[in-house]
Amino acid sequence: MTETAGATPASMKAVVMHAPEDYRLEDKAVPSPAADELLIKVQAVGVCASDLKAYAGAAKFWGDENRERWVEPGITPGHEITGEVVSGSAEALALHGVELGDRIVLEQIVPCEECMYCKRGWYWMCGPHDMFGFKHYDGGMAEYMIVPPLARAHKISSEIPPHHAAFAEPLSCSLHAVERAQLTFDDVVVIAGAGPIGLGAIIGAAHKNPKMVIALDFDEHKLELAKKCGADLTLNPSKVDVYEEIRALTGGYGADVYIECTGHPSAVSQGLNLLRKLGRYVEYSVFKENVSVDWSIISDDKELDVLGAHLGPHCWPAAIKIIESGVLPLDEICTHQFGLDEVQKALDTVADSAGASIKVSLLPGA
Ligand SMILES: [Zn+2]
Ligand SMILES: [Zn+2]
Repeated sequence: MTETAGATPASMKAVVMHAPEDYRLEDKAVPSPAADELLIKVQAVGVCASDLKAYAGAAKFWGDENRERWVEPGITPGHEITGEVVSGSAEALALHGVELGDRIVLEQIVPCEECMYCKRGWYWMCGPHDMFGFKHYDGGMAEYMIVPPLARAHKISSEIPPHHAAFAEPLSCSLHAVERAQLTFDDVVVIAGAGPIGLGAIIGAAHKNPKMVIALDFDEHKLELAKKCGADLTLNPSKVDVYEEIRALTGGYGADVYIECTGHPSAVSQGLNLLRKLGRYVEYSVFKENVSVDWSIISDDKELDVLGAHLGPHCWPAAIKIIESGVLPLDEICTHQFGLDEVQKALDTVADSAGASIKVSLLPGA
């Protein structure tokens, strides 16, 4: 039997993607959860660069029209989701370890649990790669949404603003990038970019307590926030020679670790140049075009470890703990909140790279 907290309306507002650059706010029936599903009332959904790429209709595999695209027509976007559990069977509630009234956050991937990756424990690299708001499962830009049985839900405090709670998704990604770097106490860590992902990587790296965390960004305000997130030093590449500064700080050797969170091609070669020999380079960004670098730096010159990072596996409990603890300046990181009917404004705000936005969120209940 399905339990329901209070009355759920019959219809709701939801953003529906029809085609690239054609997102519409529509009236839809509130979905009713099957025996193994939950229904949540969405409280906040973050908007990120990948939403913009989906909006622009970018192919996931550049230059190959036959490969999968980012978005499926008819789907509701939004993958940085938090909401209150309002309906579900005892079975579905038990499956996710939640009760009616709990606030949860959702991992954006819904793993199939059947492919080789899932079976070997690498669920975040699941072959079919179904993700909320991109493929197969409707996302959070709606008043209500279904949590399918294969989803990974985590409880989070109802005491914090919903857009702060929704930051668990990007933060878990940042923390995974930091985990990939396998920091030691002796490391000088450079984090390029102090947007939402970079700021998360800064706080993650600072929590590991390495010798020094250095943040790079062109925006002085973002560098101020980087300090509040735990950066020991901030450098603005438009004002100082970052290469010379970091050489001087490391006895001429270079940084031990470089975590790239900017999405700018120039930050890739910058990282290869800033690292010492045998250093670790972590790539989190997704780029608009192919990036060319001198691969001889990676091999012959420095014997670097180059590591990718995707999603936030095993980092959700840590991300939630950091958010709930209040150590992050989330009031300043979450710069813009919009209603569901302002989805276009929200996307435009994320797209305006010269603007002051860091994390833009939609509050469907507001
Ligand atoms: Zn995102
Ligand atoms: Zn799978």
